Amino acid sequence: MLKIGCHLSASKGYAHMGREIVSIGGNTFQFFTRNPRGGSAKAVDEKDCLAFRDYAAQNGIDIILAHAPYTLNGCSKDESIRDFARRTMLDDLQRMEYVPGNLYNFHPGSHVGQGVDVGIEQIADMLNAILWPEMQTTVLLETMAGKGSEVGSRFEELRAIIDRVELKDKVGICMDTCHVNDAGYDIVNHLEDVLGEFDRVIGLDRLKAVHINDSKNPLGAHKDRHEKIGLGYIGTEGILGVMQHPALRHLPFYLETPNELDGYQAEIALLKEKWV
Ligand code: FE
Ligand code: FE
Ligand code: ZN
Repeated sequence: MLKIGCHLSASKGYAHMGREIVSIGGNTFQFFTRNPRGGSAKAVDEKDCLAFRDYAAQNGIDIILAHAPYTLNGCSKDESIRDFARRTMLDDLQRMEYVPGNLYNFHPGSHVGQGVDVGIEQIADMLNAILWPEMQTTVLLETMAGKGSEVGSRFEELRAIIDRVELKDKVGICMDTCHVNDAGYDIVNHLEDVLGEFDRVIGLDRLKAVHINDSKNPLGAHKDRHEKIGLGYIGTEGILGVMQHPALRHLPFYLETPNELDGYQAEIALLKEKWV
């Protein structure tokens, strides 16, 4: 059974997102835990969490993916910015326990001139400071495009972070098709090689979710500009190749394409129809 959905606005709560994704043909969704630029989160609405868990169980939603604000930077040069990332992520993860057993994705960060090795150390230090043994969420490092000083555009960098994390069973990877394309991994013509490399360097068992985006830019551009499915350099067949691959087809897939709900609905319908 294909697990597919898209990014939704969280402003009306979990139960609303559950109904919304089902109404546009999906069975999983992604949402920001708070304003994507950071800032404070609303108080946990326990009634909403329980209503969602009920709805999800009855409507075939077996996993959802939270996304950290993309401005968090656990490897900033500035200690106060690193501290903010740490506190925000811990708060997010504590809230996630009200919808247990799901996924939480974050951008590893930008080392801003400190060098990638310092970045890797600081990201791992942050995770070691906030993960706890009983938590029921899996925290995912997103594969990045390699824009500016972003850490995590090479599989080796992600592996190096995981190597330094103490609670390794709490961490995994979310692969973004636009980002890996822009990072220089040719998933269109050499998917087998890319996945082989991922498996050797990180291990495919660490891969827990996939962001399915076309890219406005060619292989290796290091840009990170998402495009609608079929209108970019990856193409519909390229996206389907990823979604149908025997090693990936069981994973949840999330559209983060430049669309409103009706556009997402059309992309979900297209991919469901073509997926075999
Ligand atoms: Fe992201
Ligand atoms: Fe993404
Ligand atoms: Zn992106």
